[in-house]
Amino acid sequence: MNFTSALLSWYDQHARALPWRGSRDPYIIWVSEIIFQQTRIEQGTGYFLRFTERLPDLASLAAAEEDEVLRLWQGLGYYSRARNMLFTARHIRENLGGIFPSDFDSIKKLKGVGDYTASCIASICFGQVHAAVDGNVYRVLSRLSAEKTPIDSTRGQILFKKLAQQLISLDRPGDFNEAIMDLGATVCKPRNPACSVCPAMTMCKAYEMNLQAELPVKAPALKKSASVMNYLLLKKGEDILIQKREGKGIWNGLYELPMVPGDLDTSALVAECISLYGFEPGEMKEINRVKHVLSHAELDIRFYEIKANIPVSLSETRLLLVPAKSIDQYPFPKPLVDFLF
Ligand code: SF4
Repeated sequence: MNFTSALLSWYDQHARALPWRGSRDPYIIWVSEIIFQQTRIEQGTGYFLRFTERLPDLASLAAAEEDEVLRLWQGLGYYSRARNMLFTARHIRENLGGIFPSDFDSIKKLKGVGDYTASCIASICFGQVHAAVDGNVYRVLSRLSAEKTPIDSTRGQILFKKLAQQLISLDRPGDFNEAIMDLGATVCKPRNPACSVCPAMTMCKAYEMNLQAELPVKAPALKKSASVMNYLLLKKGEDILIQKREGKGIWNGLYELPMVPGDLDTSALVAECISLYGFEPGEMKEINRVKHVLSHAELDIRFYEIKANIPVSLSETRLLLVPAKSIDQYPFPKPLVDFLF
C-alpha cells in the first residue's frame, strides 16, 4: 500500500469530528480556514460556531457592518483577517455575482487568501487537485521523506509543496488534504509522535532512521546584515510577474516580485531561479540596489531586470502574471513600493 491509500484508509476511521467537516460550502470552508490560520482548533471552534451562526453565508457577511464582524472576531487577534473577509464578501457580491469563485486561480486572487487556503477550498469544495501545506503537513512530509531542507525557507516551501502535490489523491484531493492535516495534528505531533499507530510507519524514513526528533528543520533566525534579497523584474508584454509572500517570515501576505535569497553571483542566481521558479533568465541586468533596515534585520535588496520565457502554467506555483498597470491594487512592502511606483 502506498502512503496516499494508507493515509486515506486511516482517515476513513480516524477523521476528527470538526463542525465544518463534511461541508462542501466554500463559504464555510473559507471561514474555518481563515479562523484557524493563527488559532488552535480548541480555541477557535467557539468563534467559528458563533461566526457562522450569525453570518451563515456570503450574503449575510457582505451585508454586515464592520463593527459587528470585528466584534465576532474579538479575542481572536489579527483583525486584518476579519477585515479582509468582509472586503472579499462584498467584492464577491458586487463583482462576481455573489457566487464564490470555484477555480483555484480565482480563489487565490481573493484578498487575504493564500496558496494554502485556496488549496483547501479548491480541493474540499470543488474536487480540484491542489495540495494544501500547513505546519502540520510540513512536519509529516519532512519526516516521511527525512528531508532536511528548512520548512520555513523559500526552497523548503517549494520543495514540500511539490512533494505534497505528487502524493495527493487524484480521486479524493479534499480528503487527502484534511487527512494529512489530521495525521500531523493527532499522530505525527511535534513531540513524541505516535509512530506505532501511524499508517505511514512502514514507509517513513524518519522512523526508519530514528530522526523524528530532528525533523522538521527550521531555518536559523534571520541575522542582521546577513540577508540579501534578489528581486527579478520580469515583464511579458503589458504584464508583470509577481507572487504573494507566505509563511512566517517578514511581509507575510504582501506581494513581491519573484525573489531569490542569498549573496549570489550571476551564474548562481540563474541556477537558483531555475530551481525555484522553473524558468531560466536569458538576460539579467542589475538595475537598482537598496538597503532596508528592519527591527531585526538589515536587508540588502537587489533588483534585476531579466528576460525569460515564463512557463505556460503558473497555477502550480505562487507566481501570478498581472497587468502592470493594475499592480497598485496589490499590497507590496515598502522597498518594492519605492521601486515599482
Ligand atoms: S511514522 Fe512517526 S514520524 Fe513518520 S509520519 Fe508517522 S508519526 Fe510521523
